[in-house]
Amino acid sequence: MSTKTFGTALVTGASSGIGAVYADRLARRGYDLILVARSKDKLDALAKHIAKSTGRDVRILAADLTLDVDLRRVEQLIGEVTDLTLLVNNAGVGATAPLLQADVGKMTDLIALNVTAPTRLAYAAVPGFVARGNGAVVNISSIVAIAPELLNGVYGGSKAFVLALTQSMHHELADKGVKVQAVLPGATATDFWPVAGSAVENLPKDWVMSAEDMVDASLAGFDAGELVTIPSVETTALVDGLEAARRALFPELSKSVPASRYGVETNVAA
Ligand code: NAP
Repeated sequence: MSTKTFGTALVTGASSGIGAVYADRLARRGYDLILVARSKDKLDALAKHIAKSTGRDVRILAADLTLDVDLRRVEQLIGEVTDLTLLVNNAGVGATAPLLQADVGKMTDLIALNVTAPTRLAYAAVPGFVARGNGAVVNISSIVAIAPELLNGVYGGSKAFVLALTQSMHHELADKGVKVQAVLPGATATDFWPVAGSAVENLPKDWVMSAEDMVDASLAGFDAGELVTIPSVETTALVDGLEAARRALFPELSKSVPASRYGVETNVAA
């Protein structure tokens, strides 16, 4: 049981899977907690268990993050908790169906939860972090952010959004005392898979990590100051190489004339 206090961490999607493990690990580190998800009973049970085993203060807020009215309640709470030091944007749903079989209404709900909710909560939390010169945002993305061919494309796009938002937040906020991290888990053994429309048992066993190992690796990456953590990648040079390739493109991305290979007779204003 830690006696050191790290302030309060708000974890979304804390009622199961990755979020529940984050809640446990963060309390053990010395954070008080606010746990958010729809399932009040599950949150209640987890909060009681964590409070008992760690002695931390654990509050719950039952909220459906696809609903504006509930998002407002979470935003309001974020504004009131003056010792908030960590936001873990974890709540999310996946989908495995290809475009031709997927229901566009479900895709819209997915975007509300995976894109709109973390955006709104980051916007609610960051001004306080900047004012206090201290705070961190962990955004749970996915490997599909960089490999959208693996699952449903809207899910991949939603996680690419989370990655890009995190990279931009790092660019804008690193010198203001705000730390950010994008976590890109591979297949992790949670309820995500049946909810997304597929059984985790269909995947090769050596592709699937436990939620405990995934979170422990991600927190080690957080401690090491990683902006992007991909828990399964052995060689950091591979991740660094992707970033280097992206940055090498920067000077080429915006010019007054198209590349010569397109054969365009240019009309540059004199
Ligand atoms: P999970 O066990 O299904 O957890 C999802 C969490 O989100 C639950 O706590 C769920 O709680 C909450 N949630 C779902 N809909 C919600 C809503 N409308 N409002 C509020 N909370 C809602 O799956 P998980 O694997 O831990 O997923 C956590 C994150 O990891 C997601 O962002 C997912 O995209 C990402 N991820 C997972 C994997 C994987 O293979 N498992 C891989 C890469 C990334 P309630 O149902 O109680 O609301």
